[in-house]
Amino acid sequence: MKFATKALHVGIEPDPSTGAIMTPIFQTSTYVQDEPGVHKGYQYARTQNPTREALEKNLAALENAQFGRCFSSGMSATETVIKTLSPGDEVISISNLYGGTYRLFTQLFAKYGIKFTFVNMEDIRNVASVITDKTKLIWMETPTNPMMNIADIKGIAELSEKKDIKVAVDNTFASPYLQNPLNLGADIVMHSVTKYIAGHSDVLMGFLCTNDPVLDQEFGFIQNSSGAVPGPQDCFLALRGIKTLHLRMQRHCENGEQVASYLKNHSKIKNIFWPGFEDHPNHEIAKSQMRGFGGMISFTQNEDTEEQANKILTRFKIFSLAESLGGVESLVGHPASMTHAIVPREHRLEMGLTDSLIRLSVGIEDINDLIADLAQALK
Ligand code: PLP
Repeated sequence: MKFATKALHVGIEPDPSTGAIMTPIFQTSTYVQDEPGVHKGYQYARTQNPTREALEKNLAALENAQFGRCFSSGMSATETVIKTLSPGDEVISISNLYGGTYRLFTQLFAKYGIKFTFVNMEDIRNVASVITDKTKLIWMETPTNPMMNIADIKGIAELSEKKDIKVAVDNTFASPYLQNPLNLGADIVMHSVTKYIAGHSDVLMGFLCTNDPVLDQEFGFIQNSSGAVPGPQDCFLALRGIKTLHLRMQRHCENGEQVASYLKNHSKIKNIFWPGFEDHPNHEIAKSQMRGFGGMISFTQNEDTEEQANKILTRFKIFSLAESLGGVESLVGHPASMTHAIVPREHRLEMGLTDSLIRLSVGIEDINDLIADLAQALK
C-alpha cells in the first residue's frame, strides 16, 4: 500500500457498534469487566485506549514499523528512549538539536549518571571516534533544528552494527512522508507529532516506533509505568491531521523551495540553510535519504546581530512569530532567544547558530503572499 492510502486507512475501521466511519473519541478512563480479568481487552486508559491504538497503528504503518506508541509530547517520547538506559551508559548525540532535547539530556538525565557526548554528525568519522564500549545509544536529528544539518542515517547505523548500540532518529523535521529512518537501518524513530504529523498547531504529542519487539515492550512498560500518554481527543485530532499529511507535505516542499530560492538571491541575506541546495554540505546524502527537502529554512543576515533579527521579526504580517513548526500556517522564530535559548551561547555559535539567525516554518499559504511578506519584512 502506498503512503496516501496507508495514511487514510491503516488502523481505521468503522466503529462496530454504529458503523461510524471516523474512529470515535473513547473518552473514558476505565472499562467495565464481566468478572476480574474477564474484559474486552481494555482495563485502564493509561494502558490502552482504542482511539490511541488506531493512531499508533496508523503512524507505525507510515514509518514502515511493526510497533508504535504515542506519548503526551515529543519530549516524553524522547525521555522514554533515555529511560531504557542505566547509569554509566553513554549516549552519542548530534550537537545541533532541538534546545529542549539538549536540556533533557544535559540538565535532567546527566544527573542520573548517563553520559552525553555531543558531536557534529555531518562527518560520520566524528561519531566513530567517540564510540566506547559503554556507548548504548546514538541520537540524531536530521535535518537538525535549526541549522538543517544532514546526518547520514545509513552510514551511522552501519557503524553501530554488531555492537550493542541502538540508533534513534528524531524525524520531526522530515515527517514520515519525506524520510523513513528504519528503512535506512535505524532502530528507533521518534516524532514530535505536534509538528507536521498533526499539522494544525492544535495538538501536543510524541511518537516512538521500532521493529524490535524487545525494545517495543520496554517502551510499553515505560509508557504504562510513567503514564505520559496522550488523551483520546488529541489522538482523534492527530488522526484527522494525518489524512492530509501527504498533501500538506507536498505544498510545504513546493513553498519551501520557492522561499529558499528567493532568500538565496536576496542582498541582505548572509547564509541560508536548506538541504535542497546543491551547495548544502550534505545535499547528496539528503537527496539519497529524503524524498523532498521540506519547508524548514534558516538564514542569517549581513548585519549579524539580535537587534537586526528583531527588526525583521516584528515586521512580518503573514508569518507569525511563534515557537513550534510544521503547522499549515507559516511561522517565524528566533532560535537564539526562543527554541534554543537554553543552549549556552558558545555552543550555539560553534554550530553556526548566530544571534541574527531566523528560522522559518513555511506553511501552505499562497506562495506569492509568502514571498511578498518576506520582501516587505526584509526591506
Ligand atoms: N524534536 C524536535 C526536532 C522539535 O523541534 C521539538 C519541539 O519543538 C521536539 C522534538 C519536542 O516535541 P514536543 O514539543 O512535542 O514535546
